[in-house]
Amino acid sequence: MFFKDLKGQDQAVSALKNYIRQRHLSGGYIFSGPDGVGKKMAALACAQKLNCLESSFDEPCGKCSSCLKINNLAHPDLHIINNGDDEIKIDDVRLLQRQISFRPYEGAMQVFIIDNAHRLNSDSSNALLKVLEEPPKHNLIILITSKPRLLFNTISSRCKVIRFYVLPRQKLELILKNDYACDAQTAHFLAFYAEGSLGEALKLSAGQIMQKKNDLLDNFVFSSKPGQGFARISAKEDARFYLNLFAATMRDVYLVKAGLGADQMINADRAPEISKIAQRLTFNRIEGICSGISESIGYLESNINIRLLLNNLGAQLWQT
Ligand SMILES: [Zn+2]
Repeated sequence: MFFKDLKGQDQAVSALKNYIRQRHLSGGYIFSGPDGVGKKMAALACAQKLNCLESSFDEPCGKCSSCLKINNLAHPDLHIINNGDDEIKIDDVRLLQRQISFRPYEGAMQVFIIDNAHRLNSDSSNALLKVLEEPPKHNLIILITSKPRLLFNTISSRCKVIRFYVLPRQKLELILKNDYACDAQTAHFLAFYAEGSLGEALKLSAGQIMQKKNDLLDNFVFSSKPGQGFARISAKEDARFYLNLFAATMRDVYLVKAGLGADQMINADRAPEISKIAQRLTFNRIEGICSGISESIGYLESNINIRLLLNNLGAQLWQT
């Protein structure tokens, strides 16, 4: 992990580098910002830099045994709590309390990363508070969260906050083209659809999003027999994924009808076909389909017949 790989987070990176240079990076920090913008990568870069065995300016070397161990999440002085969407319980924090009472095992500093820190409950927050009030030397505690408002005030007030932001769309598009070898059409689509999150864009790209969304367009949105095109979708998660893509497409249809240019379309690569649909449908019908999509996403939670749901939505595209 290198600080230079954190794209578009100049403010956070320069604050962290300053703290490291002044040897002030210790105690409690909150890395706050949307998912997929590099918070965890930044936390690991800090852990590497603080424990790196090579003296290099600003960046960890990435090659020494300490950097390599942290890269593999196998360094004895790196402790990560990640319970996903489950609560972080008091036992998790008690373990941290025990570990933090020891000196670093082989590095210069112990680094504790608490991912999804907004999942700390009141008991575990209180236990953590005790540590944050008087953190032993040679320790860094990083709380990572996309929902900082859910953290207890007592916790937030004892930590320094480093903010991470989504990237402006044009900037994300450029990064995807220049640093990740995305072709222009893919970079354009991802920059819109991932809403400024580089991590989300890369995840979508790895999941063959372009192929899937064009499959949806060809076999459902542009097909006069949309019910047949997606007869195979039966899993809730698939249906949710395609309904979200469908919603993005209908947004394009609406905006084209309202006179916006192709460069503002999510599916700019399919602009001519989307314009044709925009000509055929009235604003009322487009709005009806959009609310049908939102309702359908809501219905997915109940035991609804997904095929029927998609058939009904598809039929509205061609009703006269
Ligand atoms: Zn190193």
